[in-house]
Amino acid sequence: MTEKIIATRANKLVAVKGMNDILPPESARWEWLEEQVRKLMARYAYGNIRTPIVEPTPLFVRSLGEVTDIVEKEMYSFEDRLNGEPLTLRPENTAGVVRAVVEHSMLYEGGKRLYYMGPMFRHERPQRGRYRQFHQIGAEALGFSGAEVDAELILMADALWKLLGLNDVRLELNSLGQPEERKLHRAALIAYFEQHVDQLDEDSRRRLHLNPLRILDTKNPAMQGLVEAAPKLIDFQGEASLKHFNRVRAILDANGVAYSLNPRLVRGMDYYNLTVFEFITTRLGSQGTICGGGRFDYLIEQIGGKPAPAVGWALGVERVLELLKEQNSDVPTRPLDAYAVVPELDALPVAMKCLQALRAEGLCVQMHAGTGEGMGSMKTQFKRADASGARHALIFGADELSQNLVTVKSLRDGVGTQTLYSLTQVADWAANLQSQA
Ligand code: ATP
Ligand code: MG
Repeated sequence: MTEKIIATRANKLVAVKGMNDILPPESARWEWLEEQVRKLMARYAYGNIRTPIVEPTPLFVRSLGEVTDIVEKEMYSFEDRLNGEPLTLRPENTAGVVRAVVEHSMLYEGGKRLYYMGPMFRHERPQRGRYRQFHQIGAEALGFSGAEVDAELILMADALWKLLGLNDVRLELNSLGQPEERKLHRAALIAYFEQHVDQLDEDSRRRLHLNPLRILDTKNPAMQGLVEAAPKLIDFQGEASLKHFNRVRAILDANGVAYSLNPRLVRGMDYYNLTVFEFITTRLGSQGTICGGGRFDYLIEQIGGKPAPAVGWALGVERVLELLKEQNSDVPTRPLDAYAVVPELDALPVAMKCLQALRAEGLCVQMHAGTGEGMGSMKTQFKRADASGARHALIFGADELSQNLVTVKSLRDGVGTQTLYSLTQVADWAANLQSQA
């Protein structure tokens, strides 16, 4: 059986199901998004962290919780072929960041604000907005206990939507309280669901005594009514938890960030406490959560570090880009400055030296590529120049080169305007073009 699958794959050599190639021009949208994120993170003083894509399996089992969708059915796990060590392709990156922070004693001198971008892997049913390799951008503030950092992270995500020009994103907020408060809630939840056990699906029945909070996270529409009426965590929280939550809310209110309270919002991993939140859009069907996060004050200790509080979020890159597309927003692209038309092979050494100088000035220049036998007709070269979208054609004709000149022909504004430049002067033209950009 396995051999047969391998044989078919070998014949076809196509990408793994649910894992996508990101090609130009689409990849330019990704680069643009990443650029906006880098800008944003710098403005909020978050530094970049890059951790491995493969981590020891127990890291995820311990941090996400054994009875979660991810650990129960979504992880790509395998054994190291030499020593049999259980390894997993990261399904999320909070666990990896916390592992790195602990391993390198990064909180030794105080809190750290970090962000990451990269691929994550979950064995899910592929559909729009849900892939097996997908990409997340995440921000984590570690070593800070104050509500102002929860608020800062939410404000930062909100600022990102503005920077990207995203609308139709709403914020949902909840507080999960502290472990001892959850214990009380858990007992009430079990009692409630036990009374309605006939309405629970198979997954939920199994989870009833293992991890009843997970039942609130169900995606089964038949159970929505039941879950809606379940005991609410917020009613089990004491003064300190409520105060923390109210502080977050006061900062959001003062900043005009609208939100709705969703007592059912529990998130898909077990490591959260106090504030949890999701940014949701109605425009992407059931894959409407574009970003989720919250506080995880006990995770660092759980992974073996000195106890320290933390809070963070992660957004789904595919979903954010999909939403942008849904809104018909174009991302700004920079057109080519010039396309080099080189009629004769002999002109290449001088022409390419000139192009190097232009690129050193910062110009984006595409060179016409020949066949080895020749460069192709002028007609073909100009067709390509037009199709490239370049603003100018640079013509390195034999006549021009014999006088150390190059013709700059405008292909867009004032089409056809031609100017001769000396090969040494053309860098000034480039610098001038740059200063206008
Ligand atoms: P969902 O409820 O849609 O399954 P989740 O709660 O599992 O999402 P998180 O683990 O919180 O998602 O991950 C944060 C974000 O990553 C999500 O809000 C979503 O935008 C994105 N995401 C999660 N899983 C996928 C996936 N399989 N494909 C694409 N994006 C995903
Ligand atoms: Mg999920």
